[in-house]
Amino acid sequence: MDGNYSQNDLSHVVEADKAHVWHHLIQHKQFESKDPNIIVEGKGMRVWNQNGKEHLDAVSGGVWTVNVGYGRESIVKAVADQLIKLPYFAGSAGSIPGALYAEKLIEKMPGQSRVYYCNSGSEANEKAFKMVRQIAHKRYGGQKHKILYRDRDYHGTTISCLSAGGQDERGAQYGPYTPGFVRVPHCLEYRAGDQGAPVENYGEWAANQIEEVILREGPDTVGALCLEPVTAGGGVITPPEGYWQRVQEICRKYEILLHIDEVVCGVGRTGKWFGYQQYGIEPDMVTMAKGVASGYAAIACLTTSEKVFELFKDNADDPLNYFRDISTFGGCTAGPAAAMENMRIIEDENLLQNCTDMGAYMLDRLGELQDKHAVIGQVRGKGLFLGAELVSDREARTPMEEARVQAVVGDCMQQGVIIGATNRSLPGYNNTLCFSPALIATKDDIDEIITAVDGALGRVFG
Ligand code: PMP
Repeated sequence: MDGNYSQNDLSHVVEADKAHVWHHLIQHKQFESKDPNIIVEGKGMRVWNQNGKEHLDAVSGGVWTVNVGYGRESIVKAVADQLIKLPYFAGSAGSIPGALYAEKLIEKMPGQSRVYYCNSGSEANEKAFKMVRQIAHKRYGGQKHKILYRDRDYHGTTISCLSAGGQDERGAQYGPYTPGFVRVPHCLEYRAGDQGAPVENYGEWAANQIEEVILREGPDTVGALCLEPVTAGGGVITPPEGYWQRVQEICRKYEILLHIDEVVCGVGRTGKWFGYQQYGIEPDMVTMAKGVASGYAAIACLTTSEKVFELFKDNADDPLNYFRDISTFGGCTAGPAAAMENMRIIEDENLLQNCTDMGAYMLDRLGELQDKHAVIGQVRGKGLFLGAELVSDREARTPMEEARVQAVVGDCMQQGVIIGATNRSLPGYNNTLCFSPALIATKDDIDEIITAVDGALGRVFG
């Protein structure tokens, strides 16, 4: 750690934090007997906490975000230069970085045409939902307003995003929910048996389940289908063979907009710019956030096809016929300035290729762990977005209980390697270890992660 922090300064920080900060996703009672973890500095793949302890970060800032790693001075400089020129202007004006980043982003997304700026994944998804509702009003007398979402997928933290959430405990106690969101089954082949599904052609079967819901609800009432390309917090679910082709066909058949939530997969995580590009899908709307600027600035984008955009341009005499939405901090120029430099780094350092190569290497190495440890039921993922599902009985595929999964995470942390796990939002299925190192990861970094997990599994289950 390079920083000049005295122990007194850091002790004060811990006290201030304990006295006043309400941390995300945690029961605070535990901080009566232990200190919160304060991350002080980062460089490359590593972070240091308040005790000066070094950690290899195998989760890119906790939640799949810091794709290009820590300490990127060129991003800081790009943001600083832009802030001196113009930090902010909102309303209906544009900005130089906003225009130039939109051009660059759309170059990477054939079939998409417009970029709408905002701040968080939840906000981008909310805006997509609003567009679907407005299209329903404009074109279908309000009829085609329902939005389908999938079991185990997550789309954000606001009430409407939770209404579109397939992880029940995240939404529990926050109802009543927004009406008009309808759940469809997940597509986790490993757990086909739990769904009573055939193992043969599971991908097609899982997609056909969506069609059944559409027919049950009435195709005239369904406006959009919102899916993660690879489900993240729901268990790192890579779609089965044949799934996406059938999903696309179904959307076209019933004129249902396909909204792909790339908040996690977007901007490199799976080894392509976007996760959907792994599967040949042509979405109508795409939302992205975390990797857009790797956490160096808060920025999220909603992109749409020209066809969606055009729907908001016709009938210009009607005073209600435009997207009547704003995002105050969608006018911050730091976001697109950081995003532009983030994209340059990924291109110049060939990080998509590195992500593909290192992802394949890590999947092999996780496979070796699976051969050694009977508690690993399946390893799966795409690029540097990987999971290892833990089971207490391999044959029966009985999900490992959460406390023991968390013990593995805790043991790795003790060893100085930060990994993640699906959390309790999936009752009964919070049993997948999650790995998402930055796209700059080397074989040595991956070996270090594997060694830590190997040791942890040995100690927890040995
Ligand atoms: N969609 C997905 C797939 C996510 O994983 C998340 C956040 N983990 C969100 C949306 C919400 O993003 P945010 O926290 O930026 O609102």
